[in-house]
Amino acid sequence: MSTFDPTAYLPDDLLERIRERAPIHDRDNTFPEQDLAELRDAGYLAILVPSERGGAGLGLAEAAILQQRLATAAPATALAINMHLVWTGVAKVFSDRGIHGLQFVQEGAVAGEVFAFGISEGGNDLVLFASDTDARPVADGGYLFTGTKIFTSLAPVWTKLGLHGLDTTSPDAPKLVFAFVERDDAVVTGDDWDTLGMRATQSRTTRLDGATADAAHVVRRIDPGPNPDPIVFGIFSVFEILLASVYTGVARRALDLAVLTAKKRKSKKTGAAYSQDPDIRWRIADMGLAYDALPPQIAALARDVDESADHGARWFTLLSGVKHRAITTAKHVVDQAMLVAGGGSYFSSNELSRLYRDVLAGAFHPSDPESAHATAASAWLGPIES
Ligand SMILES: Cc1cc2nc3c(=O)[nH]c(=O)nc-3n(C[C@H](O)[C@H](O)[C@H](O)COP(=O)(O)OP(=O)(O)OC[C@H]3O[C@@H](n4cnc5c(N)ncnc54)[C@H](O)[C@@H]3O)c2cc1C
Repeated sequence: MSTFDPTAYLPDDLLERIRERAPIHDRDNTFPEQDLAELRDAGYLAILVPSERGGAGLGLAEAAILQQRLATAAPATALAINMHLVWTGVAKVFSDRGIHGLQFVQEGAVAGEVFAFGISEGGNDLVLFASDTDARPVADGGYLFTGTKIFTSLAPVWTKLGLHGLDTTSPDAPKLVFAFVERDDAVVTGDDWDTLGMRATQSRTTRLDGATADAAHVVRRIDPGPNPDPIVFGIFSVFEILLASVYTGVARRALDLAVLTAKKRKSKKTGAAYSQDPDIRWRIADMGLAYDALPPQIAALARDVDESADHGARWFTLLSGVKHRAITTAKHVVDQAMLVAGGGSYFSSNELSRLYRDVLAGAFHPSDPESAHATAASAWLGPIES
């Protein structure tokens, strides 16, 4: 039985302050600077950094529980912080397996740096396996990156951007280069974030015009295409598990709100609370049955990553599967919650209407439904014959 106490890292009063600010940042389309400042003060940016390096020394399993909890208060804050946690999680995957190269991420997170995740590019459905961003080698072993990254969460506040680009000029080219660039004049953050949901993530477009990664911040050079390199496994595993956690937290909040409203709303027909109505009871039960499947799946896979379990080629369908099930279940649960809560949930001021908009973002993150199905089909049937 786990003795992990999430309130030690995310206390109730902090969570309530974050919850109160969430509708304001959604309405004003602003980044939750105060959430970030308070989370940083609470040591949250370094939860995945080993204690001997100054962090909280938590595993991915505990971070996943914390991200579920944070998302019940503010899904967009949780999703934005997720991007920073992904890089610190990849650094943990590396250090747990004795792989060098990401210690600066752990030290930076402890020192208060905010790491953004600059992977997505318009039209790049190969995601980690390709890039349209040019990675130009320079004399000292560093790189200059030129291209456009889309949906860069934490846009107003990040201090280092972890990204990838394609080196087409080195003697051993082509190589995909994973590195971290500084925030300077070669990086322009757009002002183009006005979306249906997850508004407080401020995931704006990032234009790179020779953005610099010095040699110490070039993490990996790998062949393009599917690749068993630890950088691919590290990003894929931590990203899918933490993303599943955020949307599982959204589902939990929707369920809690539905229960509250069912107990409060009264039927004129029967005079009883809706919580006594068999149809509403069935709907809440349906949500509960769906939700209850998620936290144990996330916990089991996160533990396997923490313990370096070997699922071989099955890792990819297990990881994209847990993300896919979390986002489809969360959407279903929020849909049901809207129906339980009735017409009041259709008002913009109602938290459920925000959750309804936020939960839609889940399907766009990798692995999207097409990619998760293609991975699962290959795992069970083998590749398509040409
Ligand atoms: C709330 C939220 C936060 C996110 N945060 C991050 C993050 O921090 N880091 C990160 O790396 N990703 C992030 N993502 C990105 C996400 O994971 C997907 O990559 C993104 O949603 C793109 O999805 P898509 O492949 O369906 O879009 P696409 O179909 O690729 O379209 C996305 C955009 O690119 C344009 N586009 C499409 N094709 C081309 C083309 N050939 N040339 C030029 N432009 C084109 C489209 O018009 C559109 O504006 C976030 C997504 C969301 C919804």
